[in-house]
Amino acid sequence: MPTCGCEVCDEAREKGVPYSRAGNSIFLHDGNILIDTPERIWDSLNRENIEQVDYIFISHFHADHVLGLRVLQPLGLQDIPVEEFVGENKPTLVMSQQTYNRVVEGNEIFQALTEPWADIEILDDGETMEIGDLEAKSIGAEIEEGGPKEVSGFLFREEDKTAFISPDENRHFDLERLPKLDLWIKETGYFTETPDGELLITERAEETSLTHEMEFEESVSQVREIKPDRVVMTEIEELFRRSYDEYKELEKRYSKLNLEFAYDGMKIEL
Ligand SMILES: [Zn+2]
Ligand SMILES: [Zn+2]
Repeated sequence: MPTCGCEVCDEAREKGVPYSRAGNSIFLHDGNILIDTPERIWDSLNRENIEQVDYIFISHFHADHVLGLRVLQPLGLQDIPVEEFVGENKPTLVMSQQTYNRVVEGNEIFQALTEPWADIEILDDGETMEIGDLEAKSIGAEIEEGGPKEVSGFLFREEDKTAFISPDENRHFDLERLPKLDLWIKETGYFTETPDGELLITERAEETSLTHEMEFEESVSQVREIKPDRVVMTEIEELFRRSYDEYKELEKRYSKLNLEFAYDGMKIEL
């Protein structure tokens, strides 16, 4: 976090990955699918030597998941000599109608960043698409209780393996819609205190700005309910004031749940 002098940020600046974190994004090598585009996605794709992105799935409209959409330009740029700028192999950008309405429609900047540079495909709650041997199903949920379904989780199946990827805003997902999962990549949820017991978030903040957000313990209870074979928790905010090593410690407490915390460059095989 720029300007922050806390121990976690100092350590991240000094040591880099896995202590530093460039945002919540997942790359599915089968199908070359990128899920969410935080603003530093350019660096993350370069760092991980990703050479091809065919699909970008967007979970919801929040800035930390869409501000990197300009990555569509380098992905879709024609080889030189450039004639029309946009090449023939445009990535496919997948999102719900809700997300499209919030991010692209009526927004001059995002229209220019997306519409010429990608084939946009709408995938609404309950809909499925096939990508090679993969099946991707969208499961929608509300971000605010009683509101529209503004967040999408993506249920991927290949052969007998099933993974649910819901990077953020997990609070209102209807867990009864989920099948038996081999893997769930999900939101961590916020912490109210540092590991040393220092207050991170006041009660007033919980009642106002964080009223729609989920606490870590609530996120763990979702895991207890679903019991996936493996859980990787992401959406790890700077505000949580926890280092890579502290998450490793915390994992030990939840080893029975096969719970791990994500870090940049983490590789998962199913
Ligand atoms: Zn800090
Ligand atoms: Zn987020």
